[in-house]
Amino acid sequence: MPRSSKTRTRKSARPGGEKNSELKLRPEAPKGPIEVAGRQLKLSNLDKVLYPREGFTKGQVIEYYARIADVLLPHLRGRPLTLKRYPDGVDAEFFYEKMCPSHRPEWVSTTKIASTGGKRPFVQYCLVEDLPTLIWVANLASLELHTLLSREDDVSCPTTMVFDLDPGPGMNLIDCIAVARRFREMLHSLGLESCPKTSGGKGLHLYVPLNTRVTFDETKHLARAMAQMLEKEDPQRITSKMRKDHRHGRIFVDWSQNDDHKTTVCAYSLRARERPTVSTPVTWDELETAYRRKDSDRLVFTCDDVLKRVEKLGDIFEPVLKLKQKLPRPED
Ligand code: ATP
Ligand code: MN
Repeated sequence: MPRSSKTRTRKSARPGGEKNSELKLRPEAPKGPIEVAGRQLKLSNLDKVLYPREGFTKGQVIEYYARIADVLLPHLRGRPLTLKRYPDGVDAEFFYEKMCPSHRPEWVSTTKIASTGGKRPFVQYCLVEDLPTLIWVANLASLELHTLLSREDDVSCPTTMVFDLDPGPGMNLIDCIAVARRFREMLHSLGLESCPKTSGGKGLHLYVPLNTRVTFDETKHLARAMAQMLEKEDPQRITSKMRKDHRHGRIFVDWSQNDDHKTTVCAYSLRARERPTVSTPVTWDELETAYRRKDSDRLVFTCDDVLKRVEKLGDIFEPVLKLKQKLPRPED
């Protein structure tokens, strides 16, 4: 059931302009509050290593988020956010945090969204609307940023349909490409464009921009039907079934992500892997090249790689925000 009840606390417009790339943080950064776009922020433990294998610190995490903000913020704005926090780094305990921490600065925007089955009748999510909020979230060691597929102003309307391609044991990112390609063709036959990104983990995410009136029932129904069609075509290598024991040697197409309460990692979010990899939008040409060369390393991007890509390519995931596409209706 789509949730309906929501109230929103949107804070006053930020007082200063945003110059994202200017924020440079080093371990010797000031101990007191710093000013980010007119907001006072107190950062902590900047020299704490959060990615031990690379000696990558919390200061560097915050610096990455500050520098990627121009392309990341449009994908976060208006979207209820789940934090995935790693206070002691990627090898230690982590937790998902849906409820926006109560010790937040008064200028952090939040949105209350009705929930069923939880302890409370609603979840008050953080909304990352601006650079200071993004830096505040990064300072909480929320390495990963996970967003709903809908925006808070209409939580029952997904702005995209998503296919989450998960390689089962014995399969890898290259195998995901073959499946993504088939989805692309099938979507084309329905007149729909799709945009791939790496998850920054093991698999691939395929986004179908919608930005039109649609329900989660509709996206989930179509995603499942398409996953089942591909499974029928190649049952030895593709599965649409949730059962884990069916995934060996197969790509699991998780169509169930198209749900009003499920999140997907946001484009340009860091991942809590050995290295600071990023969920990175990629072109179909890049996927084809990696597939031809059977070289999945080409599709592993760390935060430095991504900053360079974005300088050159800009946000190649922009169609996910802007492209309006309609799902075919049964009568079409
Ligand atoms: P990978 O490519 O390694 O599978 P992924 O981000 O796709 O990376 P999945 O485990 O397939 O990871 O999950 C898909 C999405 O579902 C995640 O990006 C995350 O947003 C959400 N998710 C997964 N597990 C949880 C969980 N325990 N609690 C909340 N959200 C989750
Ligand atoms: Mn996945």
